[in-house]
Amino acid sequence: MIIVMKPDATRPQVDHVFERVRELGYQIHPIYGEQRTVIACVGDERGKSRLQSLEVLEGVESVVPILRPYKLAGVEWRTERSRIVLKGTLPGQEDLEIGNHRITVMAGPCSVESREQILQSADAVRAAGARVLRGGAYKPRSSPYSFQGLAEEGLALLAEARERTGLFVITEVITPTDVPLVAQYADILQVGARNMQNFSLLKEVGTVRKPVLLKRGMASTLKDLLLSAEYIMSQGNYEVILCERGIRTFEDYTRNTCDISAVPALHELSHLPVILDPSHGTGVRSLVTPVARAAVAAGADGLIVEVHPNPEEAFSDGAQSLLPEQFAALMEMVRKLAALDGKLV
Ligand code: PEP
Ligand code: MN
Repeated sequence: MIIVMKPDATRPQVDHVFERVRELGYQIHPIYGEQRTVIACVGDERGKSRLQSLEVLEGVESVVPILRPYKLAGVEWRTERSRIVLKGTLPGQEDLEIGNHRITVMAGPCSVESREQILQSADAVRAAGARVLRGGAYKPRSSPYSFQGLAEEGLALLAEARERTGLFVITEVITPTDVPLVAQYADILQVGARNMQNFSLLKEVGTVRKPVLLKRGMASTLKDLLLSAEYIMSQGNYEVILCERGIRTFEDYTRNTCDISAVPALHELSHLPVILDPSHGTGVRSLVTPVARAAVAAGADGLIVEVHPNPEEAFSDGAQSLLPEQFAALMEMVRKLAALDGKLV
């Protein structure tokens, strides 16, 4: 349910509503808008009528149900698009804004492989204009015999690359127990497609005060994706970025079928920023740039792209990784398309 306060409701009236909602066993998620305060009350759906009775409290304008199953991720609670701001803390590092007419490009190798490889990648993607460095230190591989990542050593290398370049760092976390360690190093936590419905992991990243990039599972609907975002948000972490990265279909020319329509569809259903991963979305280097362009044209708030200084020798996902010069050309196109929409890269 949503409790809409009157525009002139006082602070004590709002606090009294909070108290009554908590007494009924519901969690409160307020939005303090310029006009009024709107309070989402989430919890057991069966007790909804008791919340309805709060309509008589001083300062309350109305109590309305949230019809969609994802309460906080949907547009009923928050009608304005969310934007996420990461504060620059290093010398010369500007704040990073995600959403709000920005196109945020995250780029780097699939896996952190060595100091030289990650620093070279970071220098290249930064020179081309990316603001966020990607690179997995914990890799969720289909085979247990494939490279599993450098773990904490990889995290430390990402931190070194951040110091050197001023890029923000995104990296994947694959188990709930690793969350505190990964959060010490990363600016943005990535939850991968294979873990989109790892509910204990979602709850754990929901307790961290860092943005989470949530990738769509390869057999998940948009509703499933938004319900997974809801797991994170219900823990109090509202900074979720949704990521389309392709789904499994009968088509096998591409690694996945990249669902471009997910971008505008998620914007209709949710206030959260939406980015697209054309690398996993296609699995084919030559298709990455065209699909990235399509995503930007469809209104994506950003891209996450795999780039490797020497893709042929990559430990993972070499076939879909761009060479640095190809990535620079992609950025040039993204800048042109962004300008058409009045957006900044
Ligand atoms: C990755 O980003 O390298 C990755 C493993 O992606 P996904 O979870 O989308 O497969
Ligand atoms: Mn990858």
